[in-house]
Amino acid sequence: MPLLLLDLDNTLLDRTGAFRAWGERFLDSVGAPGTDIEWLLSVDADGLTDRWDVADAIRDRYGLRIPSIDLVDELHDGVVANTRLDPLVACALRIADDAGWVPVVVSNGAVRQQDAMIRRTGLDRYVADWVISEEAGVSKPSPRIFALAAQRARMPLRGAWVVGDSPEADIGGAAAVGLPSVWLHRGRTWSDSRFAPTRTVDGLIAAVATVLAG
Ligand SMILES: [Mg+2]
Repeated sequence: MPLLLLDLDNTLLDRTGAFRAWGERFLDSVGAPGTDIEWLLSVDADGLTDRWDVADAIRDRYGLRIPSIDLVDELHDGVVANTRLDPLVACALRIADDAGWVPVVVSNGAVRQQDAMIRRTGLDRYVADWVISEEAGVSKPSPRIFALAAQRARMPLRGAWVVGDSPEADIGGAAAVGLPSVWLHRGRTWSDSRFAPTRTVDGLIAAVATVLAG
């Protein structure tokens, strides 16, 4: 029974799609041009930018008087509310589970948001457990967060695969801990010379298929 260590944002769940959906509606509500969505996506940086900094950037650009704290709340809630679990992803996880793999989410992020996304989408029914960097006190690519995930699932780390879209956090993390990995390319080409993914695919379903094929 090997572990399947899965990234959350833009691997199991389409976070960019959710942020874009929220962003388009928000920009419209403040009278900003729709083309500003590309600016907003770049400020967001796949959620890596601190939410307070994103809120400040939005307030500055549009001269908004909304209190930062309200905007930060809206950034959190907007992404959560717009995130959906693709039924095909749920199906792939069920197939992996049937084949004896134990799916565990390993995510860098805030507990409040990641936990809400996992539960609200129903993803919690398809994974054995999840480890969020904020509560773990350590983030990917540190090998310690993968070790913690294995400990949580009461399973050995040996034999596990890591699946994710981040070259540094997911694939670099897998390399650091000595595990094989699958990279979701999202239209990018691999450019890091320090390490490389074992496999490269275009989405979660293909990732599960390649892991199961051995
Ligand atoms: Mg990701």
